[in-house]
Order: sequence, then structure tokens, then C-alpha cells
Amino acid sequence: MKKAIYPGTFDPITLGHIDIIERSALLFDEVVVAIGKNVGKKPLFSEEERMDMIQRTTKHIPNVTVDSFSGLVVDYARDIQANVMIRGLRAMSDFEFEFQMALVNRTLNNNMVQVFLMPHEAYTHLNSTVVREVASFNGDTSPFVSAYVVKKLKEKYKDL
Ligand code: ADP
Repeated sequence: MKKAIYPGTFDPITLGHIDIIERSALLFDEVVVAIGKNVGKKPLFSEEERMDMIQRTTKHIPNVTVDSFSGLVVDYARDIQANVMIRGLRAMSDFEFEFQMALVNRTLNNNMVQVFLMPHEAYTHLNSTVVREVASFNGDTSPFVSAYVVKKLKEKYKDL
């Protein structure tokens, strides 16, 4: 049973994240999409809202589950007995940060294998920050996120 975790903030989940999840689901028996509670970041969506959006937009993929964690990702992975961690690599600009994090994680837990996947080129420019920015100015986010997330973004910025 090969279990992998895909950690991130997912504030909110984009089509780029979904692309990586779909690819991962082909490689592993179970993919746990794990929302990291980062004390330094103040997310737009609550943990419950992010979990709901991930669940709804990945329900077409049977071997995906959603969870959240605090603390070190290597400790969380060990707790749930996942020995693979997935990260997305969009462009060269991701490389340096991911390279550093990968080596730190490997030093902390040499038993965890880190796998880097490239999304479809249509999503290489995409991140959640850009999506929130477009939504905040009432722009069309449908090229970047699922229909459900488009709706959630509209509701969120109406309330703010
Ligand atoms: P973001 O960088 O959008 O704030 P997260 O912190 O949620 O995203 O990132 C979680 C993981 O998903 C990271 O490995 C990140 O590189 C990857 N990722 C984010 N957006 C994309 C995308 N458009 N295509 C592929 N991977 C992505």
C-alpha cells in the first residue's frame, strides 16, 4: 500500500493543484491532500472551507483523502505512515525553494521520499495568490479554479 501526502496551503485549491493530485493518484494507492496550518500565514479561507473545496473538487478521484496538520510535515507523514511526499514544480522559480526544503526534510527524515511533478503547461503560471487577487477585483477566476471555487471566491469577497 503506497501512501503519499501532498501538503500545501490550498487557499484556495486551483486547477494546478488538481492537475498534480490527478497525476499523483495514478502513481499511489492513496493520496492525502494535507492542509498545513502555517502560523505565519493568515489564509483567506478557513481550514474547514479549504477542506470542503478540496473534497468537492477532487471527488472524481477515488483514492484521494483530505486532512490537515500542524507542525513539521515530516512528523505528520510519519504519524500517518506515508513515506512519500509530493510537491508541484511549476517553473525554475519554484526550484530553489523546493530544493532547499527537500534537503531540509530529508535531513529530518531520510525515510521519506520526495516526488516532484510538473503540471500541464496551462497551469505553470498559476498560484493561489494570483487567484485571490483576480477575485478581489471582481475578475473572472473560471480559467484558474473549479466552478465551485469560483462561487466560493465570489461569496468571500462579497462579505469582505
Ligand atoms: P501556492 O504556491 O499556490 O500558494 P500551496 O502552498 O498550496 O500553493 O502549494 C502546494 C503545492 O502545490 C506546492 O508544491 C506547489 O508548488 C504546488 N502548486 C501550487 N500551484 C501549482 C500549480 N499551478 N501547478 C503545479 N503545482 C502547483
